[in-house]
Amino acid sequence: MTPSRLVLCILTVFTLGTGGALRGDDKITPDATLTRLLEGNQRYVAGTPSHPDQSVERRTALAEGQTPFAIILTCSDSRVAPELYFDQGLGDLFVVRNAGNVLDDHTIGSIEYAVEHLHAGLIVVVGHAKCGAVAATVAGGHAPGHIHSIVESIAPAYESVAKQEGDKIDNTVRAHARRVAGILSRIEPIVGEAVKSGRVKVVAGRYDLATGRVEILP
Ligand SMILES: [Zn+2]
Repeated sequence: MTPSRLVLCILTVFTLGTGGALRGDDKITPDATLTRLLEGNQRYVAGTPSHPDQSVERRTALAEGQTPFAIILTCSDSRVAPELYFDQGLGDLFVVRNAGNVLDDHTIGSIEYAVEHLHAGLIVVVGHAKCGAVAATVAGGHAPGHIHSIVESIAPAYESVAKQEGDKIDNTVRAHARRVAGILSRIEPIVGEAVKSGRVKVVAGRYDLATGRVEILP
């Protein structure tokens, strides 16, 4: 690390506080980042969140720039809020949400921006129990308006588990999150290259509406 780089890091820590976001490529490995998120989730599940990084000082410091440490792709469902279920604050998470946490060009471009320019080192694709977009896919039939494009995006995951035993919606939630994470990790040139170099990791998870727990899917 060059002296000027070191000074920048020290200034960053000083400005944002130790709970603040360090650049993903400077300090925190993808695995350590995942641990940080899951520890936050444990606090949320237990009903003892610490609500970090939500002070006036934090807000003011972030006006100069953002260095989120993780990227979250999750559903728009009003019960599924990443800053809450990971117990994080301002400037910590770069969040992309749409119904069914599906991939399209805008979603991929947003994630690429956070990897390339903000240097976030972890991408978590979080599906959730009883997802309405997944339920619509499993139900079949014609989805009106532009909803059909969401259903079409989830359909391959449903088809991959349609013959499995158990809850078809939950099986599809899991398969879809895994599939999206897998596709995302191979998209060239930005995310694919970052994953190959080890700078970025992509994982899939499932959020439980009742317990609040995020389970990382193998
Ligand atoms: Zn949903």
